[in-house]
Amino acid sequence: LASREFHAADSVVYVGKVRIGGGSLAMIAGPCAVESYEQMDIIARYVKAGGANILRGGAFKPRTSPYAFQGLGEEGLKILRDVGQKYDLPIVTEVMDPRQVELVCRYADMLQIGARNMQNFDLLKECGRTRKPILLKRGMSATVKDLLMSAEYILAEGNHDVVLCERGVRSFEDSTRNMLDMSAVPNVKVQSHLPIIVDPSHATGRPDLIPSMCRAAVAAGADGVHVEVHHCPEKALSDGPQALLPHQFLDLMGDLRRLAAAL
Ligand code: PEP
Ligand code: MN
Repeated sequence: LASREFHAADSVVYVGKVRIGGGSLAMIAGPCAVESYEQMDIIARYVKAGGANILRGGAFKPRTSPYAFQGLGEEGLKILRDVGQKYDLPIVTEVMDPRQVELVCRYADMLQIGARNMQNFDLLKECGRTRKPILLKRGMSATVKDLLMSAEYILAEGNHDVVLCERGVRSFEDSTRNMLDMSAVPNVKVQSHLPIIVDPSHATGRPDLIPSMCRAAVAAGADGVHVEVHHCPEKALSDGPQALLPHQFLDLMGDLRRLAAAL
């Protein structure tokens, strides 16, 4: 179902009124984690001002350490929903467990399946039984074929609204968080009709590299970008070191609009 042979034309996925694919650029932005109403309100104002069209923020966080901040749970979902409504931005947030799907569906416009859960097949099936668009991130050790097979799990349950996300894979290079596989964009496009976006925040882990990798993603034919932004990265409860500052984010959004218009 994910293959080009099955469906020749590029698929378009709607998140609220926002189109992803078929020539429209999705700009997904927000903090790694929802930390408080005030934090989300400040960041969402920049997200809106920059012209991004989907607000992100994690309420259930897949942290490497069980002692690290795990997210605000349902309280975080409420904050994200309220702030999204205030700025008229649809929201995407991660769901980590099949048992959370129903709860997250009550608040979110789009469900994110994180890299660590790309092959959580029960979660894929459960998300496939919802009517919410799904943002499926590539696992850090997954091939492009694995990613497409995971998408297939969702499609096979009847949910055809899947957006893929390249977010870097593990490699020997240790000056970046992961290795951004930009070739995944045209590679997916040859094999599949599904939209694909790029997340240079988790791929590089470095704010100084994010703008150029966003421009490269757009030039490579990506259907959007996904970036983390925080007004006070040193105080962020997760992924602070990779967050763009508001002014860096605003400059980047302007650059991407100009680039997209020129292509
Ligand atoms: C995230 O989007 O905050 C996240 C945890 O991403 P990934 O699953 O790509 O690591
Ligand atoms: Mn993050």
